[in-house]
Amino acid sequence: MEEKKLVALTFDDGPSNITEQVLDILEAEGIVGTFFLIGQNVTPDKKSTLERQLKLGCEICNHSLTHNPMSDMTAEVIRDEIAKTSAIIRDMVGIETKFFRPPYIALSDTMYDNIDMPFICGADSRDWDPSTSAQDRVDRVLAQVTDGSLVLMHDMKDNLKTLEALPEIIRRLRDKGFSFVTASQIFEAKGIDPNQPHKLWSNVFD
Ligand SMILES: [Zn+2]
Repeated sequence: MEEKKLVALTFDDGPSNITEQVLDILEAEGIVGTFFLIGQNVTPDKKSTLERQLKLGCEICNHSLTHNPMSDMTAEVIRDEIAKTSAIIRDMVGIETKFFRPPYIALSDTMYDNIDMPFICGADSRDWDPSTSAQDRVDRVLAQVTDGSLVLMHDMKDNLKTLEALPEIIRRLRDKGFSFVTASQIFEAKGIDPNQPHKLWSNVFD
């Protein structure tokens, strides 16, 4: 039997003023996503958003506390960025984050040696750049995704073009036979251990 093609849509920099609308789209489509949260954005008023993410079957992951580039940080500061974010999320909704995305994909050996989670990148929609049109975001994702891909998007503040692009991204991937899963599920389904040293994942088959 042929295995199903899988893709994991991931969203960085929330929770923000558009996160609920991203969830509305995912819920309407009956699919899940993976959210890499910035710890300092996880304020008490966002608790219902995190609860909704989990209720919909989405995954919550770690995108640092301050979103500063971490490649020049000391081990101590790196560990603090990660631990504080994990604690904020744990205290709010009682889960442990299992994956990490480095801010700006800035990397160092010190980061790999001090962050005890797999590092996730993904097929870049360039949706962090306001000049990237909604159609360009769609086309960039569709051009890159293969079975096992993680897709990098942003539910950052006011990122309306991604709200515009997302339904078409989902429809066209579905037309190509993809099913939508979380980061944890894509590794599980493919039988691949994400815990490998000094590894930045964009596709589980990389
Ligand atoms: Zn980010």
